[in-house]
Parts: sequence; C-alpha cells; structure tokens
Amino acid sequence: DTEAGPEASFDDLDLSPVMRRALAKAGFTKPSPIQHALIPLALDGADVIGQARTGTGKTAAFSIPILEQLDSLDDCRDPQAIVVVPTRELADQVGREAERLAVGVETEIAVLAGGKNITRQLRQLENGVQIVVGTPGRLHDHLQRGSLRTGKVWCVVLDEADRMLDIGFRPQIERILRKCPRDRQTLLLSATLPPTVRRLAESYMHHPEVIDCSKDEMAVETIEQRYFTVAQNRKSDLLDLLLKREQPEQAIVFCRTKRGVDRLHRQLSHQFEGCGCMHGDMQQRERDRVLQALRDGKLKILVATDVVGRGIDISTISHIVNYDIPQDCDDYVHRVGRTGRMGRDGIAFTFIVPGEGEFLTSIERRINKELGRDEFKEFEAVP
Ligand code: ADP
Ligand code: MG
Repeated sequence: DTEAGPEASFDDLDLSPVMRRALAKAGFTKPSPIQHALIPLALDGADVIGQARTGTGKTAAFSIPILEQLDSLDDCRDPQAIVVVPTRELADQVGREAERLAVGVETEIAVLAGGKNITRQLRQLENGVQIVVGTPGRLHDHLQRGSLRTGKVWCVVLDEADRMLDIGFRPQIERILRKCPRDRQTLLLSATLPPTVRRLAESYMHHPEVIDCSKDEMAVETIEQRYFTVAQNRKSDLLDLLLKREQPEQAIVFCRTKRGVDRLHRQLSHQFEGCGCMHGDMQQRERDRVLQALRDGKLKILVATDVVGRGIDISTISHIVNYDIPQDCDDYVHRVGRTGRMGRDGIAFTFIVPGEGEFLTSIERRINKELGRDEFKEFEAVP
C-alpha cells in the first residue's frame, strides 16, 4: 500500500503554506505511509531509521522536513543538510525532487556527484549552498579539499542506507559523519535494512526511532513476479520470445557483469528498436544521455548492471527482467522495485538456470510470496 490510510492527509503534518503549495504543484495529494510517519518525527529533530517499500516516496519523506527547517540563505551560506546516495544518477534525481519541493523557498541545492565537472561544483559551494546531495566518493573529495564545509550541517541523510553502510562505502561514510557536528540529526532510509545494518547504524545515531512501513512484505504488491527455468545458453532466445510476447512499454534487463551487458545489448540492438545500455565503465556523459533517453521514452529497453538497481524512479518502466540473478535477495527487491512505482502496476521476470533453484527459494522466503512459474511451450520443445 502506498497510502497511509484513507484518512491520512498533509493537513496532519503541520507544514508551511509554501510547502503545501509546492506539494499541490507536484501533484502530491496525500502523504504515503513513510511520509506520514517520518515527517513529524524528523520535524521534531529525532534520528530515524525508516524502512519502506520501493517507490513509496522516501525522497520526499526526508526532503520535506529538511526544506521546512532551513535557515534562510542570508543567515547561513554553508550547507545545512547533506544527503548521501550510492550512484551519480540517483544524486541527480534526488536533487531534482528536492528542487521541485523547494519552489517558493530561496534555496540552493548542489548535486556533488562523481564523473561531473568539479570546478563547477567548487564554484557553486563557494557561492553558498544549503542542501548538498552527493555520492560518497565525491563528497569525500570535497571534504579533503576543504570546499565542503560541514560546521553548520544539522541533518545527514543516508538514502539506500544499507548500500551506504556496506563495506565498499563505509570508510567514506564514516569520515563524512565524523566531520559533521555531533548533535546533528541523522536519517536512514531504505526498502531493505537487515538487522546487522540497523545495529551498525545505531552506533552513528542518537536513540533512533525505527519506522517500518514494509509490513514484512518486501516487494510492492502491485508488482507481479514470475520466473522461468532456462539453460544458460538459451537465455537470449528466451529473452527474445519474452520481449516479443510482452511488448513492454519500457523494460530494464539486468545482467551480472559489464561485459555481459555490452554483449546482450549488441545482440538485442539487431532485433529491437530503442535499446540502450548502462554500466559503471561508461563515460558519465553517455550514462546521463542514456538515462535521459529512458526518461523521455526514447529508449524502450535498457540493459544494465545493478548501477541502476537502486532508487531510480521512472514511472513508465513496466517490465523488469533478471537475465542473471542478482547477488542477493535485497538486490532482487531493489531491481524489481524499478517498476510498480507509487501504486502503479509492473511485472518482473527472473531467469533461473539449473543450480540456482536455491536462490529462488531464498527470494520467496525474503519477499514472503511465491513467484509464479512462466514458460513458453514451443520453447521447451526445442532441444
Ligand atoms: P522511494 O525512494 O520510496 O523508492 P521515490 O521517493 O523515488 O520513492 O518516489 C516515487 C515516486 O512517487 C516519485 O516519482 C515521487 O515524485 C512520487 N511521490 C512521492 N510522494 C508522493 C505523494 N505523496 N503523492 C504522489 N506521488 C508521490
Ligand atoms: Mg529512494
């Protein structure tokens, strides 16, 4: 469920008239459950660990209280809030969502993502910024240069917190947190927050409130989930049949490796119009171009690694295909969550090769739901 009950209203949340107008302009008529639960706590100054399913408005849930509590730019030209996200594309997206909710407030929001021109970022910081949205590496870079001043920061958000605190990002995250004032507010958000992460997170927080809007069912109900069993060397034939049968409005096909993405993308491009690909070895300019084309509807099929597995919000994505199974069940939840945003329908297919049956079982246990089996009769007949 993406609504906090029929009676839930933004009226309950004690928001400023400016914010109410911004919400109306954005077309947000009712708060989602995570928004309804988190906003009052955050406005109260509490630290919060918030778990809520994919596509249920976690970005606005932390952006609204930040925007509501900013000191004006005249009083403070140094950043007051830092939002950390795992990928460059997500940084752009979160920055834009915050901008959208900031209409009518004089706010400077800087997106400090890797792969982007640092001179421009330096100039922007120099001119005065209130909210910073960034990736761990680039934020850390700015800290070392002294261009990102943290003395006035009163709120730090770790979006996709479990990814932020996993081993790859932890050193940079710890450094960012240590640099910010101790009495700051810390907000952690994700659709998946394993107990180990929660425990670790608590060591960075003051008596955090825990909100769990996921009700033990990790994946959104409006996403239909199915699987195919297939031999490794027949996957591309199966994908071909599947895409022709499904005629997706837009699809993301997830592969395990960058090379696998390139290979499958080359193959698909011969058969389908509007194919693109995305992985971490591509130039940032190209990554931006591809994602924009997807947002504009010019791309129909995106072949990608898990670099687009988290956070990306494109409402027209109707289909997800796990061409290769993800690394773990949580990655599965996030990949599948690129469809079915804010109550919309979506469908996800997972290709299971012999020997991966156990993974299927563990997904089903994790999401508390059985995946339906799908098949092509004619396909099975082929030797
Ligand atoms: P999450 O981070 O939980 O995956 P997002 O913050 O990306 O979800 O939000 C998903 C979509 O829902 C976005 O397009 C966002 O603009 C929209 N949205 C957020 N809050 C509301 C609301 N209260 N009413 C309608 N749409 C909303
Ligand atoms: Mg999100």
